[in-house]
Amino acid sequence: MKSANSIISGLGTTVFEVMSALARQHQSVNLGQGFPDDKGPEEVRAAAADYLLNGHNQYPPMMGIPELRQAVAEHARRFQGLDVDWQSEVLVTSGATEALGDCLFGLIEPGDEVVLIEPLYDSYLPMVRRAGGIPKLVRLEPPTWRLPREELAAAFSARTKLILFNTPMNPCSKVFDREELGFIAGLCLKHDAFAVCDEVYEHIIFDDLRHVSLMTLPGMRERTVRIGSAGKSFSLTGWKVGYVTAAPELMKPIAKTHQFMTFTTPPNLQWGAATGLRLGDGYFSTLAADMQRKRDRLAEALSDIGFDVLPAEGTYFVTTDFRPLGFNGTDEDFCRHITVEAGVTAVPVSAFYDEPGRAPRHFARFCFSKHDETLARAVDRLDRHFRR
Ligand code: PMP
Ligand code: GLN
Repeated sequence: MKSANSIISGLGTTVFEVMSALARQHQSVNLGQGFPDDKGPEEVRAAAADYLLNGHNQYPPMMGIPELRQAVAEHARRFQGLDVDWQSEVLVTSGATEALGDCLFGLIEPGDEVVLIEPLYDSYLPMVRRAGGIPKLVRLEPPTWRLPREELAAAFSARTKLILFNTPMNPCSKVFDREELGFIAGLCLKHDAFAVCDEVYEHIIFDDLRHVSLMTLPGMRERTVRIGSAGKSFSLTGWKVGYVTAAPELMKPIAKTHQFMTFTTPPNLQWGAATGLRLGDGYFSTLAADMQRKRDRLAEALSDIGFDVLPAEGTYFVTTDFRPLGFNGTDEDFCRHITVEAGVTAVPVSAFYDEPGRAPRHFARFCFSKHDETLARAVDRLDRHFRR
């Protein structure tokens, strides 16, 4: 028999699925895969439920229902001061994951170079490679995860088609500041490159930091793609509703990819997401404040247990160095160990690198977007395990 595509066949199962399966098997408290255990805002769920029962449950327009595209444009104006034409510049996708795939397949020509920043979300590299792109990786180093400007500049060339990066950044919880974004923008302009900016955690940001969309920087409006996710902004990760904002010419190949990838996204969930994006400012500030409180709670408890906890400026996650606990194996060993022996699951950070063998092997990522009782149960279990 002929073999299937070699890039895809060579992939393992995503770390989130692997660790969640292990968590189920051992009935551990799952702080691995990033998802809240809250139900999400009632208004948003009620809107989707009502639409499901009483709305039009047939194929919505390919670009998304007008109400959601309008809501995405209004939201971009409210939070980023962007002037977005909902008809030609907004596309609804089945999650940010599809949005990323649409951008990469729509923009990359085989042989194009793509600049990426490690550690990176695990869908990026396989999709870049499957699209024929040649990854040029630049690494952020803990504990500051500062942008290495010289390395980044060296990764760009005339062959660079685009840079793909994420802010606030999973898994290291870094928020890119305006100067760093300005530096990235300068390189894009210098080398005539696009930027695909994964902004799914735009509202999960702490300590009075502000999320800045690269798209708002001078010269970047026409060459940046901004990606958001209702899953993250409304604590409904199973919904898989994402949205892409890009200038009309840039949107065209992205939308053409979408039309043959999924074509549409369930209309009731789109309706719910539109309701969410129109919630008052109070909803979004409370979301960030709640998450910050959870971050503080978990970070403090893990630190008391003996972990070295790295700063987290945004996202659902804290990165921890487990070496002070006296554990000598790899991060993968550690995450399996605490799942099986302590009943708490985390995710190994080396999974966010191209070659885990050449990555730092002493960091575990814990998800804190959980009810206080869930966090307390996890902390209690880890505490009992490591105090023995
Ligand atoms: N990008 C990043 C950085 C993420 O953490 C996630 C979360 N799963 C996604 C994209 C995918 O989002 P979605 O669930 O909307 O596909
Ligand atoms: N983004 C989530 C995380 O980083 C997981 C998403 C997934 O399971 N595909 O944990």
